[in-house]
Amino acid sequence: MAEDHKTQPVPRVYPFSRETVFLIVGDPEVAISRTTLSICEVCNAIPDAVNLTAEPGGQRDGVLDSAARLKDHAEIKGSLKLLRCPVCGCLYKLERKTEFLLGAGEKEWALTRLQRGDAFELLLGQQAKAVLKRDDKWVFEW
Ligand SMILES: [Zn+2]
Repeated sequence: MAEDHKTQPVPRVYPFSRETVFLIVGDPEVAISRTTLSICEVCNAIPDAVNLTAEPGGQRDGVLDSAARLKDHAEIKGSLKLLRCPVCGCLYKLERKTEFLLGAGEKEWALTRLQRGDAFELLLGQQAKAVLKRDDKWVFEW
């Protein structure tokens, strides 16, 4: 039987709008408390802001184990993503830094914990054309 061949799920297309950003981020008025973070087994090991020598989930060298457990939530650009904690739902900004001081081929990633309000403003400021949703991941279209 040919039942087990995988079909690519058809992505849903959303207009880039405040309503869509609300779907991606959640209510910007609802803040994640320090208590939630301190009891979260993933987030309690991740500082508010940290530089990583590799993208979490990719090459593991030098990457905090906890950061590697964060899930891709929204891909804004190749150099800018939103990650989400699979346990408490806290959002993180992952940004590739282009530093002249870094050697050729070396990349550094800045991981920053965001409150929902900050994540909301970050996404709203992007002015993308549309946003696709594939499974649980959002992808910005330019
Ligand atoms: Zn967490």
